[in-house]
Amino acid sequence: MNGSPSHPGAELAILVVAAGRGSRAGEGPPKQYRRVAGGTVIAHGLSALHRAAPKAVIAPVIHEDDLDLYYESVAGLDALTARRLKSPVYGGATRQASVLAGLEALDADRDNRPKIVLIHDAARIFASKELIIRAISAAKSYGAAIPGVAVTDTIKEVDADGSIVATPPRARLRAVQTPQAFDFDFILAAHRNAAAAGADGLTDDAAIAEWAGHSVHVFEGDAGNMKITSAEDLAIAEARLIRDLEDIRIGQGYDVHAFGPGDHIWLGGLKISHDHGLVGHSDADVLSHAITDALLGALADGDIGSQFPPSDPQWRGAASKIFLAAAAAKVRERGGMIAHIDATLVCERPKVGPHREAIRASIATILGVPLDRVAVKATTSERLGFTGREEGIASIAIATVRLPI
Ligand code: MG
Repeated sequence: MNGSPSHPGAELAILVVAAGRGSRAGEGPPKQYRRVAGGTVIAHGLSALHRAAPKAVIAPVIHEDDLDLYYESVAGLDALTARRLKSPVYGGATRQASVLAGLEALDADRDNRPKIVLIHDAARIFASKELIIRAISAAKSYGAAIPGVAVTDTIKEVDADGSIVATPPRARLRAVQTPQAFDFDFILAAHRNAAAAGADGLTDDAAIAEWAGHSVHVFEGDAGNMKITSAEDLAIAEARLIRDLEDIRIGQGYDVHAFGPGDHIWLGGLKISHDHGLVGHSDADVLSHAITDALLGALADGDIGSQFPPSDPQWRGAASKIFLAAAAAKVRERGGMIAHIDATLVCERPKVGPHREAIRASIATILGVPLDRVAVKATTSERLGFTGREEGIASIAIATVRLPI
């Protein structure tokens, strides 16, 4: 079996359970689709699992209402991670039903049935390679194993009135985590049997294994393998993710387009009525072009002309949000995040002020960053030069990008 610890992942599937609603994390989409440090929670988690187990098949189980959110999330994943991802499977009404749906999908892929399956929560995005190696090893040795960490708080058992009824000895207690690790054939059969028997109140997969009469080994977990549950957890997770992006790059971009006939211009992906148009090979969105070049500059990855050559007919009349989104995807493919965009438009007209907030929102949406990380400013050139004579619009942009070292 080619599952040696130095290459974790062969004959391994990691089921990522992401079908929950995550209501404890406050307003907005389910917590696994919240955006932190340049990507969604689930995207960070999938990337971490791929880094920890490059050969593993990664099999997400999602809620059917979340299909669009899911595909938006994984659109920014690097190509190697994306290649290991199976198509998502819809979960059921309970976590137990969701896991069974995921296991059935793995079973149905007859040519690639795993020997070992790790069942993992999408809300744990810091699974380390060492933890995955311990999980695989424990699954091979014991058939059913889960990670646990010693508890540091004294745990009290209380009754309905809040009175203490027991103080279990702390040395024997473990706070358990995921990934829970199993022999695939065993846990699939156990899940099927539990479902058939109507045993549907089992809250984790260790409980399924116990229900099936199998002893479950507890191996060493990882205190850093936190579960994101609350809004506070999201903030802690973002701080940890950002801390790892120490290679801070600044890129700058500059662009000019001339006015010509027309009744609108595009700025930051937003259509704005004007008594002229801007002339260009694409839609002449001068602001988007400057920002795209700033991002490419921060990555030292050519410029908009080399990435999207004007000689290529597919870019004729193209919406420039394609270029912006592609530059943002390049940042994410490098495992990085866009920390900030600061852009300036230089023109006498149109007046940018009334459109500023809409332009910011458009750019933030296209780049997939929070609104407070996008600044758009405007100035005239005091009637001097080509912008002063209203022959065209100039734009300058600076992008701050954080990459892993
Ligand atoms: Mg241009």
